[in-house]
Amino acid sequence: SLAQAIDGYARAGITAIGPWREEVPEMGPERAAQRIRDAGLKVTGLCRAGLLSVLDEARFRAALDDNRRAIDEAAAIGSKVVVLVAGGLPSGTVELSAVRQRVAEGIAGLIPDAKAAGVQLGIEPLHPVYAADRCVINTLDQALDLCDSLDPDGENGLGVIVDTYHVWWDPGLAEAIDRAAPRTLGYHINDWMSPQTDPLNDRGMMGDGVIDLVGITRLVRSAGIPLTPEVELFSDRWWAEDPDVVVQTCIERWRAITAQVIATD
Ligand code: ZN
Repeated sequence: SLAQAIDGYARAGITAIGPWREEVPEMGPERAAQRIRDAGLKVTGLCRAGLLSVLDEARFRAALDDNRRAIDEAAAIGSKVVVLVAGGLPSGTVELSAVRQRVAEGIAGLIPDAKAAGVQLGIEPLHPVYAADRCVINTLDQALDLCDSLDPDGENGLGVIVDTYHVWWDPGLAEAIDRAAPRTLGYHINDWMSPQTDPLNDRGMMGDGVIDLVGITRLVRSAGIPLTPEVELFSDRWWAEDPDVVVQTCIERWRAITAQVIATD
């Protein structure tokens, strides 16, 4: 539960938390905000909104309304960022370009609400394996192109989330991270297992898979992006573990990564 996570992170000396929306109603955003503050944590971002890849007009408006609720929830819980995942191809269509255009239209429609609430929208590109069912924004450059077109001067606070699971394979990653520096609102870490038993719920603990986490963290660091890593570990294997063991393992693995990054500065 959110309460257990807050207490467990505080106990382990972790200083921030990125709640998921479905966890917030158990105590409501205001009480959650209070409890997070009392535990000495800050909120990195609220996961997640988006799912704007809807061609039907009524359902598109409903999706926008849900995103506006997410923006209000983020403000109430003390989060400066809402993480947006675009949504996949609606069933019955193969018109990927039109769907991507729709997502852009949706994000544009949310900018005034986000600005009014003092919340930034973080577009998270997802690995192309999810293009059909979860997210039609699939590279960091594609997300940055969207930011450049909807928010050329950065005044609207539009940004991106860099998740190692989604971007590690990209041959243009070094340049994209440099380009992303002024717009990066989150850095999600985890690993890519090979072989992988499930594309959704077999993410790896950092260091167990094939992602060059030292190399990517070095790129993030040299681009001047403040390092506030968020471990995002959808994993049946790790969900079955004692949560305190998971948190301690995360801390140890991240320390090992940063030690190597700093050693080569
Ligand atoms: Zn992520």
